[in-house]
Amino acid sequence: MAEHYKNLVAGEWVGSRGGGALEDINPADTRDIVAVFPSMGADEVRRAVDAAAEAFPVWKALTPVARGAILRRAAELIRERAESIARDLTREMGKTLAEARGEVTRASFFFDYYGAYGRLPVGAYLPDERDGVFTYTVREPLGVVVAIAPWNDPILTPARKMAPALTAGNTVVLKPASLTPLSAWHLLRALHDAGMPRGVVNMITGSAGVVGEALLGHPAVRAVTFTGSTAVGLDLQARAAGRNIRVQTEMGGKNALVVLRDADPRVAAGLAASGGFGQTGQRCTATSRVVVESKIRDAFVEEFVGAARRIKVGPGLEEGTTMGPVVDESQLETVLRAVDEGRRAGAAVLLGGARLHGEAYDRGFFVAPTILDGVSSAMGVAQEEIFGPVVAVMEAADVDAAIATVNGTRYGLSASIVTKSLAAAHAFARGADAGCVAVNLPTAGWDVHVPFGGFKDSGSAFKEHGQEGLQFYTRVKSVAMRVAGV
Ligand code: NAP
Repeated sequence: MAEHYKNLVAGEWVGSRGGGALEDINPADTRDIVAVFPSMGADEVRRAVDAAAEAFPVWKALTPVARGAILRRAAELIRERAESIARDLTREMGKTLAEARGEVTRASFFFDYYGAYGRLPVGAYLPDERDGVFTYTVREPLGVVVAIAPWNDPILTPARKMAPALTAGNTVVLKPASLTPLSAWHLLRALHDAGMPRGVVNMITGSAGVVGEALLGHPAVRAVTFTGSTAVGLDLQARAAGRNIRVQTEMGGKNALVVLRDADPRVAAGLAASGGFGQTGQRCTATSRVVVESKIRDAFVEEFVGAARRIKVGPGLEEGTTMGPVVDESQLETVLRAVDEGRRAGAAVLLGGARLHGEAYDRGFFVAPTILDGVSSAMGVAQEEIFGPVVAVMEAADVDAAIATVNGTRYGLSASIVTKSLAAAHAFARGADAGCVAVNLPTAGWDVHVPFGGFKDSGSAFKEHGQEGLQFYTRVKSVAMRVAGV
C-alpha cells in the first residue's frame, strides 16, 4: 500500500481539497508506488503564495545570523536522515544508492554554505564626494520566490535554490517535478523541523499547467528560479517578461568532452564513461558528445567501449549496480528514438542502443549504455539533448576544429578537455562557449561555492552556487546619509 504524503503550506501539512493525486512510481519496478502526493488546485497554489507573502516581513526582519542558524540546523537534519532520504530518492528517481547518497550530502552542503552567509557582509561602505555624508549599499531580499525543479536531482536542485533564497531573507514556494516529489518533501520536512517560521517555505505538487499558471499569475511573486528543459524555461521567461519580475533559467545541455592526441586513452575513456553514463546520463552536465582528435580516435574508442561494457545496469538499490534505469517510459522512448534517428542519419551503434530485457529489467525502464560513432554536427544526435545514457563520438582534426565542434550547438552548459598541453588547455578555456569549463576532469561535478550555470540556450544571466548565486535573490539599495551639520 503506497504511503500518502501532504504538502507544506503556511506551516501545515495539507492535502488537496479537490482530492486529485499524483503517483510517484519506481522506474526500476513500476509495481512499486513509492508515494502518493496531492494534485493541488489553482486556489490552493494561490494560498501557498499568500502564506509566503505574509511570512516575508517576519523572515526578512530576523537577523541574517538567526536565519543562517536555521539553515545550518536543516543541513544537520538532512545528514542525520541521509540514508532513508537516499533510499527514497533511489526508489523514486532510479539513480544508484551511491549516487543518491552523494546527492543528499551535497544538498546538505548548500544549507551549511549559505547558512554561514548569515555572518558575512551584505553590503559595502562607499566614499562620498560630500563632507559628512555616510554612504553604503545593502543587499535586500526580493520577497516571494517561486522555485521550479526537475526530477534528475530531486533534492539537490531544490536545495541549491532554496538555500541562497532563504539566507538572503526571501520566502519560497517550491514546485518539485511530478515524477519525484518525495525527495523534495524530505527537504521541506528538514527545514520545517529545523524551526522555519510558518509560511517561509511552502511546497506544492500538481499538474505543471495548473500550478505553473497559478504561481506565475500571482501578483506577490517577485522572482522565479527554474531548472528544467530549454523549451519550458524559454516559455516561462516569455510569460514572466510582461510582469517585470526576475527569472533565472537553468536549462538543457549538449555537453562535450574533447580528447586530444596527447591524452592517455584510458584516462579519457574513464572521464567519458563517468560523464556520459553516470546517473544514467540524466545530468544536465552529462557528457553527450566526445570530440576526439583523429590521431587518437581508435585507441580512445577501444578503451571507451571497454569502460562502458564494465557498467552493471540494474535497480539502483541493488548491490553492485553502477547504472540505474531512466526515469520513465517517455524518457526511455526519447533515448530509443534518438538512437534510431542517429542510425538512420549514418551513425554506427558501437554499443547498446536498445532496451534491456530479462528478469531484472522487464518491470523497469532499463536501457544499455550506448555509444554512437561517426557522428557529425549535422546530425540531430549531435544537436539535441537526449538526457539518457547515449554518447556520440565525433572526430576533429585539431584543437581548433574540436572547439568549433563543441560550440556548434544552441547549448553552452559545460565542456571539458583531456590533454597534457598547457597551451591547448588555455585555448580551450578561452574558446569554449560554455558556462562551466574543465580540464582533465569530467563535464559533471561542480561544487556548491563555484558559480554554476549555462550560456546560450542553457541558461540565463544569473548564476547559481557561491556568492554569485546570491545576486539573483537580492536587490541592491544605495543609502546616502548626512550625519553631520543636521
Ligand atoms: P521540464 O519538463 O522542463 O520540467 C521541469 C520542471 O518544470 C518540472 O517541475 C515541471 O513540472 C515544470 N513545468 C513543466 N511545464 C511547466 C509549465 N508550463 N509551467 C510551470 N512549470 C512547468 O524538465 P524535466 O524533464 O523535469 O528535466 C530535465 C531537463 O532539465 C533537461 O533538459 C535537463 O538538461 C534540465 N536540467 C538542467 C539543469 C541545469 O542546471 N542547467 C539541471 C538539471 C536539469 P512537472 O514535473 O509537473 O511536469
